This record gives sequence, structure tokens and C-alpha cells, in this order.
Amino acid sequence: MDLKKGFQFEAAHLLPHLPEAHKCRRLHGHSFHVDLTVSGETDPHLGWVMDYADISAVFKPVWEQLDHRYLNEVPGLENPTSENIAAWIWSAIKPKLPLLTEVAVAETCTAQCVYRGG
Ligand SMILES: [Zn+2]
Repeated sequence: MDLKKGFQFEAAHLLPHLPEAHKCRRLHGHSFHVDLTVSGETDPHLGWVMDYADISAVFKPVWEQLDHRYLNEVPGLENPTSENIAAWIWSAIKPKLPLLTEVAVAETCTAQCVYRGG
């Protein structure tokens, strides 16, 4: 069984390794959307895999490091692509959320990156 919990944060970034002419090389912002997926068995008594509130509690301190930030200044996010943000979030929360199986980061409604660890 998979549970997905969605979060949003607003942040600015630029992608420093791209050519000067690329639009993503310029400072800009996104309303980022993050979906965290946890996977496990449904507890037969409780009828759930885990409490969505526990997912939110684990993500909250990470969210606070991202929301309304200039991501390039966040340690570990000097090149804040969606791919790097997803892996960074995974590293930050996987130890506290062992059922985590997927971190998805979307910069826009039509572009999403999915990381499954490893
Ligand atoms: Zn961007």
C-alpha cells in the first residue's frame, strides 16, 4: 500500500552550471510541489499504513529549510535542480521515515522529478 502526502514551498534558485544564455541560469522562482510516498502493509487493526500527520512532522523541519529561501544558499543545494532537491530531501528524511519509497519534486504543473533512493 502506498501513501502519498503533498507539500508546497516557494523558493528562488538559479542553475549555475548552465550556459549564461539558458533561462534557468537566471535567478527565478517556483511554487515547488513535493510528494512523499511511503509504502507498507496496512495495519489490520488501525486500518492504515501510518499517520499522514507523522509524515508531515518529519518533513516540517526540512520544509522550513526550503520555504521562501534562495535554494543555492542552502548547504547541499548549491546546484538546486529538481533532481538534486529530491535526493537532498530523501537524505534528510529517510533516516526518520524508513517507509519512504519515493520523493517527487515538481517545479511546475507539467514537470516532475521522481527519486526512489540509491
Ligand atoms: Zn527553476
